[in-house]
Amino acid sequence: MLRSALRSTVPALSRGFTSGTVEGFTGAVGNTPLIYLKTLSERVGSSIYGKAEFQNPGGSVKDRAALGLITNAEKLGLLKPGGTVVEGTAGNTGIGLAHVCRDRGYKCVIFMPNTQSREKIELLKMLGAEVHAVPAVAYENPKNYNHLAKEYVEELGSNAIWTDQFDNTANAQAHYETTGPEIWAQTKGNLDGFVCATGTGGTLAGVGRYLHERSKGKTQIWLADPPGSVLHSYVQSGGKLKEREGGSITEGIGQGRITNNTGTIIDKVSGSLHIADEKSISMMYELLDTTGLYLGASSSLNVVAAMELAQKLGKGSRVATILCDGAHRYQSRLFSRKWLQEKGLEKAIPEHLQKYIVLE
Ligand code: PMP
Repeated sequence: MLRSALRSTVPALSRGFTSGTVEGFTGAVGNTPLIYLKTLSERVGSSIYGKAEFQNPGGSVKDRAALGLITNAEKLGLLKPGGTVVEGTAGNTGIGLAHVCRDRGYKCVIFMPNTQSREKIELLKMLGAEVHAVPAVAYENPKNYNHLAKEYVEELGSNAIWTDQFDNTANAQAHYETTGPEIWAQTKGNLDGFVCATGTGGTLAGVGRYLHERSKGKTQIWLADPPGSVLHSYVQSGGKLKEREGGSITEGIGQGRITNNTGTIIDKVSGSLHIADEKSISMMYELLDTTGLYLGASSSLNVVAAMELAQKLGKGSRVATILCDGAHRYQSRLFSRKWLQEKGLEKAIPEHLQKYIVLE
């Protein structure tokens, strides 16, 4: 059942699940370990599991979405050999797309705000992408990088796609067909809760829908939200969208609207958790200290949320979350004392973990 479900729509993602070897970059996407976080589990008297998405070949959970978006366009006949893939993205999706495009022989064009770090722009170029770093303006402005990506594709005409990661539900579908079934198999279907934060909502929606359906509602699905996002208040208020305000040090998560991907799960979530930056940053250092895992702030936020959810669900509960990417892409900030001071977060890191702040 699992094998055929995996094979049915995203064959490239399923290859590694059944055989000893895989083919190329795309063959290596997915099939990541589910890590039992022992010390943290024992602290709350429950079992906390993290899906090691940082082990994907492009380094993040977004490799799955990138592969799913491109595979879907191929199946629909929108993308043929020599075609062009365009996206507006400042982060992991662009990196995933750039890798998949090299593996499949497509041209990759990325639009991003010119406020992004030089490292990100350089990495995308090293991966062969054409990068358009454009002035950073609000989503409402027609010159916003997302709209420019869409326009660019319209000008190219045929054999070019705008992957549209926020509203194209092939994103969530990739997680429904791979990440969800993997977690189900790895926990033998014995899971009380799943929680994660959202950017596009693809991960929460795809994994959440699969686990909710497969467990017949037994596995509760919860949404975690950083400061500056509106989804926590949306869930708490029973569906009222407020203006976005404030911000967070976490990257890749937080949202001001219900994207199409989030829209496929939002009515099935049992609740939401707001996680302050102080807790996320402290957990980032704690994960390093107690597990050796070097993770980004969104992963750390997810682990805080998983522990809080486990406490709500009661002793002995089993909760899974997503370890989205490593800290490498953010280390010049997250391990800099000056930066932490500027953000008012230095004191959030307990005394015994201060030794990890090694950059000035
Ligand atoms: N964490 C990181 C580091 C990310 O880059 C993203 C993607 N924006 C997410 C979490 C959220 O994933 P999704 O887009 O599937 O909601």
